[in-house]
This record gives sequence, C-alpha cells and structure tokens, in this order.
Amino acid sequence: MLLRARWVVPVAAEPIPDGALCVRDGRIQSVGRWRDLRHLPVTAREDLGEVIVCPGLVNAHCHLDYTGLAGHLPPQASFTAWIQSIKGAKGLQSPEDVREAWRVGAAMLLRNGVTTVGDIEAFPELQPSLVRETGLRVVSFLELIRIRADAPVEDAVDQGGKWLRDLGEAGLRAGLSPHAPYSTTPLLRRRCAELAVRCGAPVSMHLAESAEEFEMFMAGEGALLEWLARNGRAVDDCGGRSPVQVAADAGLLGPRFLAVHVNYLAPGDAERLAGAGASVAHCPRSHAYFRHQPFPWEELRAAGVNVCLATDSLATVRTTRRRALQLDLFAEARRFRTAHPGVALAELLGMVTRHPAAALGMTGEVGILAAGACADLIAVPSAAQSGSPLEGLFEAAGPPLGTMVGGRWVSRREGS
Ligand SMILES: [Zn+2]
Repeated sequence: MLLRARWVVPVAAEPIPDGALCVRDGRIQSVGRWRDLRHLPVTAREDLGEVIVCPGLVNAHCHLDYTGLAGHLPPQASFTAWIQSIKGAKGLQSPEDVREAWRVGAAMLLRNGVTTVGDIEAFPELQPSLVRETGLRVVSFLELIRIRADAPVEDAVDQGGKWLRDLGEAGLRAGLSPHAPYSTTPLLRRRCAELAVRCGAPVSMHLAESAEEFEMFMAGEGALLEWLARNGRAVDDCGGRSPVQVAADAGLLGPRFLAVHVNYLAPGDAERLAGAGASVAHCPRSHAYFRHQPFPWEELRAAGVNVCLATDSLATVRTTRRRALQLDLFAEARRFRTAHPGVALAELLGMVTRHPAAALGMTGEVGILAAGACADLIAVPSAAQSGSPLEGLFEAAGPPLGTMVGGRWVSRREGS
C-alpha cells in the first residue's frame, strides 16, 4: 500500500512535504517524497490529502482500568488523602466495570492517536484477553503491592514470573510494576529487580511523585509515613534516602527501568537515573491535578535522562465543564508546552514518540516512520494557517482523522 500526504513527519528525520509511505505486511518499507515513491509497484494507493502523517503516539504510562473513575475523585488536600479516596473508589467497581473501563480507555487512546501504551494492570485476571481484543499495542506491567511488613513476598514474585511467562507465550509484551517505594517492602523491590533481570523484562514504578513520599524517605516522617505505619507498614527503610535512591538500592535502576512522575529530586538523583540509562515518564495533567512543585525537566534533561510524556489515568485529570475527559497525549503535550514554553517542537514530538518507545524497549519498532518500523501512524488534519507541520500537529483542532496500527486502519472518522 502506498500512502500520500501533504506532510510526512518521520520524527527521526526532517518533515517531508508532499510525502509518501510504502507499507507492506504491517511494516514500513520506505518513506520519502511522493515523486520518488509514486512508481513503486503496489496493490493499493491512497491520497490522504491535506493531512500530516506522523508515527502513532506512544503513551508510556496509563491505567486503563481506572478510565471509569474519570471525574469521580476531586483533588484532595493531601496525597495521603487521595490514596485513601482512590482505594475506596476502586473497591466499589465490579469486575465488569473494570473490564468495560479498560475497553473504553483503549478505544479512546486509539481515537486520540496513541498506538502503543505502557499500561499498569491491577486486575491481572482480566488479561491477556482484553489486550488481545484491542488493536492497541500494549506493554502490560503487572502491578505488585505489599504494604504490611509480614505480607509474604514469594507469592508476588511467583505471580510476576507466571505473568511474564504467560504473556510472553501469548506473543504479548509484559513487564513488572512494583507500585511505588511507599507501597512495597524492601524485599519485594529486590525480588522484582532480580526477576526482571533474569527475564529481561521492563520495570515501571511510580517514583518520587509527591512531597509526602519524598519527606517519608528523606526525613523518615510525615503524613504518608504515619498513615502507612498505622496500616502495618514497617518504616525502617525510611529516612536519609530519596525515593530514587531507594529504587537504586533495590537494584531496580537500569536501561529497562521507567520511573513514573519523578517530581521531587534530591541532589545527585538526576545523574543517578541518567547513569543507569533509566527513563522518566511525566504526566502533565496529573501533575497539575496534584499541584506538585514544578517538574524538574531541565535538570533531568541536562543530566541526559530520557524523558517522555504520558497520560496516567483519567482518575487524576481535573474535569472541565466544556468537554468530557479524554485520555489524550496531545493534550498532555500542550499542557507541557504551557508549563515549559522553551521546549522545541521537535523535542516535544520526541517526548510522545521516540522517547517513550525507548522507555518501553521498542526503539526502531514504534515512535518513528522509517524502513523496518511497524506501520503505526496517524493522519492529523493540517491546519491551513500553520506553515510548520510540527506546529500543525500540536495545534490541530480535534482528534486525528485516522489511526493505523500494523498497516491496518483501526480508527477513522468523518472527513477522512
Ligand atoms: Zn500511575
């Protein structure tokens, strides 16, 4: 199949005016000017017209199973209060609610231009059937939580090993997600790190998200520590270390480690993450919901950390009266640009394509349009008033006209 578009934005190379893409067997065979590719022998040709074609976006961090909680949880006075409120809301969901939320969230991502997601699975019994149903590429991270000091850890490790094995045998991508330093024991963190190394699996962990978490580990005190201690968590791993250092001490940091949030850094943390080759996922709308201190993007970037943007779940996006909440990585990118106006558009695009692809261990597969990559792409209406295709991408009114995964249109809307 040969596709033609007003602009093709390969990400790894300069935007191509009057560009074309040749797709064969679900992969991209070539990318270039229409005039250079038009004579290729193909069975189908499609002129997409006044659109910008770019890679399908890659969302490094999401909880599809919380999509049903959109708008249900107003921001709380503290992070500790918020954990209690989401715990309560989760308990009220039936398995059918969760299944439906996952499906709705996956369809929403595709409609809004995401073709690959790193999803945290808190309900492993629903997989791999839901992942199989969707046209979305999913890296499924099994959520592991152990708070009580006396909670057995070996069963969690066995469950993790089985998860990696079962999904792998089903041809799906799987990883582990020890939830966060505050919701795991030192032994669980260490065992997860060992299992991940043994299986070559990616690991994703919420890290240094809130001021209360930072205080818990640095100072060994605060509201989060006190609440967890009341709930049976031993706190002898707290005090004198940052959350990043806690993850490092467990052996978790490495090129397959994706730290989510990282809003609070101690001196040396950015270098620690960069030195290990770890990635960071920043969720701009979730960050705004919690009113955290400014995200230390410049510091992480200067240290050489691979930083990407992600949606997190819809449970932590503020509602507006104008529009129903959507999982929307373009909206996250626009929010990031407002907070960090110095960001170059090419870099911003990298933060929703190439960078998260690297974070999920999929460099060269997704997040770029290049020979050999998966034919995962989106067609965005080209804003006539915008001369630059990159500006056009981020200014586009409304969702993409079409989303293709593996050479197949999985979502298309009117006018395309
Ligand atoms: Zn999360």
